[in-house]
Amino acid sequence: MKISSIFSEKMSFSFEVFPPKTDQPLEPLLETLDELCAFKPDFISCTYGAGGTNKGRNKEVCAAIADRAMTPMTHFTCIGNSKEDVERYIGEYVEMGMENVLALRGDFPEGWSETHGDFHHADQLIGFIKEKYPELCIGAACYPEKHIQASSLEKDIAHLRSKQDNGAEFLMSQICHDVDAYQLFHDKLRKAGVKIPIIVGVMPVLFKDGLIRMTLSNGCSIPKELAEIIGKYGDNPADFKKAGKEYTVNQIYKFINLGIDGIHIYSLNKYKDLADVIRAAGLR
Ligand code: FAD
Repeated sequence: MKISSIFSEKMSFSFEVFPPKTDQPLEPLLETLDELCAFKPDFISCTYGAGGTNKGRNKEVCAAIADRAMTPMTHFTCIGNSKEDVERYIGEYVEMGMENVLALRGDFPEGWSETHGDFHHADQLIGFIKEKYPELCIGAACYPEKHIQASSLEKDIAHLRSKQDNGAEFLMSQICHDVDAYQLFHDKLRKAGVKIPIIVGVMPVLFKDGLIRMTLSNGCSIPKELAEIIGKYGDNPADFKKAGKEYTVNQIYKFINLGIDGIHIYSLNKYKDLADVIRAAGLR
């Protein structure tokens, strides 16, 4: 199923997982996939080289998602890929029966300051994939509080327009804890002529250190309510998790009330705590 076909029917609901490294076992993730699939998400995406690491067992994970009668989406990046590489690798995904790809520039591996490939930005990669594989549904990343390297939100939005014009059929957002900032971003995007659906990425608030690390590395803000949870429960992991789950459920309610096109939960390959959040938010 193409992800673009969901939005006219309903708000999409999906998960992100990341693949284990090539020398690590797949089994723990397979167990997680079984649990996540029980929620009947519309699709599950698998990251590719996230954090500048190697792409690990991405293809096996995508195949495992499809084996569970679920729609997989692979992430794919410009990092180290020539045009020939992109054509070959994407061709392999198409042969596997994949219909969806999230096309990204990618995180730079440590010490890199460019892609070392034929494409320097996601919009170029999107245009190339669209030309070679027009049957694929292509998504692209967006950043409600602007990409960390962008000099302004307006410039970043102009590049999102270029992703749309080159063939992206939906956007998927970086974590954004600030629902008001998301709404402002959404309105600016629409004014700039970016009309494609936007899936909001939600990272459940479960662990203080991980929350702060992800927030800092992505350049997004910590709203007052979340800062209060960190201040009050930061030294008590169990209480932090309890308050964090309640915060996440409320955040999901607020996003849904805005009428968003889709919600994508960054699972971090976990499912027990996610299950509590998903049920409490009424997502399933
Ligand atoms: P781009 O669109 O190329 O943007 C990067 C920067 O360049 C921005 O500041 C933008 O404003 C600017 N820019 C864009 N186009 C142009 C242009 N034509 N000319 C000049 N400047 C331009 N990383 C991974 O490695 N693997 C993953 O699996 C992965 N999954 C992700 C999933 C989601 C939902 C998100 C939001 C991010 C993900 N990332 C992943 C991280 C992403 O690769 C990084 O944030 C990366 O720094 C930017 O990727 P992009 O596709 O947005 O790049």
